[in-house]
Amino acid sequence: MSDRNGSAGAGRHAVVVGGGIGGLSAAVGLHRLGWRVTVLERADRMRESGAGISLLTNAQRALDRLGVGDAVRALSATMDPGGEGLRAASGRRLQRPADPAFLRERGLSIIVLPRPDLHGTLRAALPEASLHTGADVTEVTDVTDGARVSYRTEGGERTVHGDMVVAADGTFSRIRSARWPQVPPPVYSGHSVWRGIAEGCDGSAEPGGSTWGRGREFGRMPLAADRVYWFAVANLPEGVRYPDEHAQVRERFGSWHDPIPALIAATPPDRVLRHDVFELAQPLPSYVSGRVVMLGDAAHAMTSDLGQGACQALEDSAVLCSVLAAEADIPRALAGYDELRRPRSQAIVEASRRMGELKLNERRLELLVRNVKLRIAPPRAGQKGVAGVGDWHPPALPEPVPVPEPAGPVSTRRP
Ligand SMILES: Cc1cc2nc3c(=O)[nH]c(=O)nc-3n(C[C@H](O)[C@H](O)[C@H](O)COP(=O)(O)OP(=O)(O)OC[C@H]3O[C@@H](n4cnc5c(N)ncnc54)[C@H](O)[C@@H]3O)c2cc1C
Repeated sequence: MSDRNGSAGAGRHAVVVGGGIGGLSAAVGLHRLGWRVTVLERADRMRESGAGISLLTNAQRALDRLGVGDAVRALSATMDPGGEGLRAASGRRLQRPADPAFLRERGLSIIVLPRPDLHGTLRAALPEASLHTGADVTEVTDVTDGARVSYRTEGGERTVHGDMVVAADGTFSRIRSARWPQVPPPVYSGHSVWRGIAEGCDGSAEPGGSTWGRGREFGRMPLAADRVYWFAVANLPEGVRYPDEHAQVRERFGSWHDPIPALIAATPPDRVLRHDVFELAQPLPSYVSGRVVMLGDAAHAMTSDLGQGACQALEDSAVLCSVLAAEADIPRALAGYDELRRPRSQAIVEASRRMGELKLNERRLELLVRNVKLRIAPPRAGQKGVAGVGDWHPPALPEPVPVPEPAGPVSTRRP
């Protein structure tokens, strides 16, 4: 957020619930706008667990708006969206990569970095005193001109008043279910994702790419400093856990084309993560309730199939701060946020679900048809999809009010 708007939030206080990428990015933008921010995080430490994260151009532009784009880029590797294209498990090409000229023309790229680095960069842009861990928010109550947030700490129950509350408390948001009890909780997508970082590999030589098998996907992306981030997706019943998750990845993906076996082998087994993927299948009727604004997964939990969950959280933060910079009246600004964010983010939830169904299909005949269609489709089909999601700009900021030139001495001389 530009310094010219630095006074837009002066004297205002935002309470941000949740210290994930969504909550921290909103806090960074609001802090730069001049708001006092209090971030309440339930966990006992502000942290983001391992593996990598990919951020398409839309998220990079959001980070620029929030003032941390360059700092994040400095820790990232860059790849073309889709990398070297789509392959089958045998290595056979399913879809050609996007046309580099098209990507350049639309400014489309992906940056990839370890999640803790993104989280750390956001944390570093905030005053230490604004971050509170071990603070479990239990209730948010509307009061005149704001909301009261109640939370539990080791030292007992506390409350804090905010002119606005940013609910960034993740997929299973307590605030969302209290405000919209009629909206069913998120549902399991049917698939689970292993993630890891292969070490000692030349990340700069890795173009990135995706491989689709029967009901399975393996994706790989470059990271800076001799590392490659990978993820492996499979249809699994909810909640299943294995004593050795690394062995599961080896068993399911170890015979796929190069360099997949080598990447799995170069990953420390104890650092392989696995997460079941959930989505908010029924969209929220609004992202705003009184002075409470929903953001990130709390607003629109989506599957990871488009790699857009955090990108959308960053868009949310950039838009929230832009509307608050342009409109002093908080309820009016929040109505603008809802109008700008809900249609786009909910369409991306849908698109992500459809992508998951396409990728993870297990029915043989449908797979044959899918693969033929992918092979004959012109590259522009995929390019259109990437551009629709990635070629996004945050809303324009208001022009700074021109400061009148100091009046010079009035000339008394006649021409
Ligand atoms: C396998 C996988 C891969 C992914 N890859 C990508 C990717 O490459 N690119 C991308 O853009 N997205 C990706 N995503 C999605 C992305 O991780 C999420 O969308 C993003 O992290 C959401 O951030 P958030 O801050 O909204 O929620 P969270 O990260 O869930 O943060 C919510 C925070 O709120 C805290 N909290 C919850 N309840 C309370 C409470 N009552 N009081 C206080 N604090 C509370 C939690 O402890 C947590 O820290 C992926 C997701 C998965 C599962």
